[in-house]
Amino acid sequence: MNISDMTSLSSAYRGRFAPSPTGPLHFGSLVAALASFLDARQQRGQWLVRIEDIDPLREVEGASDDILRTLEAHQLHWDESVRYQSDRSDAYEALIEQLRERGHCYYCPCSRKALLENNGKHNPDCNPAQPSPSIPMAIRFHATGARYSWQDLLLGPRFYQSKKQTDDFVIKRKEGFYAYQLAVVCDDIDQQISHIVRGSDLLDSTPPQLALYYAVDVTPPRFGHIPVILNQQGQKLSKQNLAKPIENEHASLNLYQALKALNQTPPEALKSATVDEILCWGVNNWSLDTVPKRQAIQAGWHNTSGL
Ligand code: GLU
Repeated sequence: MNISDMTSLSSAYRGRFAPSPTGPLHFGSLVAALASFLDARQQRGQWLVRIEDIDPLREVEGASDDILRTLEAHQLHWDESVRYQSDRSDAYEALIEQLRERGHCYYCPCSRKALLENNGKHNPDCNPAQPSPSIPMAIRFHATGARYSWQDLLLGPRFYQSKKQTDDFVIKRKEGFYAYQLAVVCDDIDQQISHIVRGSDLLDSTPPQLALYYAVDVTPPRFGHIPVILNQQGQKLSKQNLAKPIENEHASLNLYQALKALNQTPPEALKSATVDEILCWGVNNWSLDTVPKRQAIQAGWHNTSGL
């Protein structure tokens, strides 16, 4: 049996990997992609890929294709066609309209700096009935002061007490771009995602995302947050601290190392196995319970140029 035979779908599980095209995949993002892929495939679920290209200011030319090529080189084949968030403005506008009708959001001209200086208090002229064409305004979600809780697939029970006003988050930016929280929830709902396995760097995003699900009366998916990978200096691997791009020609070894980082126990012999064999082993032996229940871990990587 090879990995494509193992993808015959029979469950309601729908997972996804949703990278932002701000650069090529690094080892930390490969670990996140692999964890969500194995979790979906082991449960005979679907696994989708969505390119979150809603922030042209952070986007790097060619990064979307580069990411897809890396997933393909590692045989992390997705179901359905790749979704690009840049094509989804109408859906995001419709969700904002729905939130507006339900009284969950408001126009806000306040700058981040002014809010910080004023303990989160808004200007008296904030929240006009209509946006002004001359003053750039964000649209913010009204935090209700509710307590959010979820049973994290990995970290167990998590709680967050939201704070009225100071936790009001932007859903559409002053520059006219849709905010990550809005777009991610809109697409996870539309794509009927049932399980989100992603890095712990997104833990703080889960409460605002839950707030959006509840605001539109949709049952949220299950969330599981895996550790982020740190470099030898203890910094999260990221494009900002120049994490090395994944080398596609070492796909087997990359996957082997990613399994190790996820605290799975691939036999030594698998190091020189084919990508297909490694993924089959991964699907058959995947255990989310074994993944370290920590928000960050230092993990070695073979890359010739280091982490
Ligand atoms: N696009 C986000 C990122 O690359 C991830 C979104 C998510 O998994 O919820 O950080």
